[in-house]
Amino acid sequence: MASDKKDVKEDLRVLYHGEALCAKSEKCRNRAYFLSCGLASCGVHSKSDPHRQELPENPNKEKIEQLRLTSMAEAALVVSFRLAAIGVVLRFAGWV
Ligand SMILES: [Zn+2]
Repeated sequence: MASDKKDVKEDLRVLYHGEALCAKSEKCRNRAYFLSCGLASCGVHSKSDPHRQELPENPNKEKIEQLRLTSMAEAALVVSFRLAAIGVVLRFAGWV
């Protein structure tokens, strides 16, 4: 598990396909899929650049998503224990 977190930390230094917002315009809310003129760009803002390069897919995408889901499940468990400790019992469909 420790090496998984190291991989995630390393991913923060690299731009990957669809993981950052377009940097070509402050108003653009699209995700960046290309590198155009040195900036992470969406398809709309890099369309006119014939030299745009597609950003690589994150090789750790599945591992990062699994870590995120595990973290959320652990946080939900901690909250449910704390609520149970003060007498609050939550009933979710299918959980009880
Ligand atoms: Zn854009």
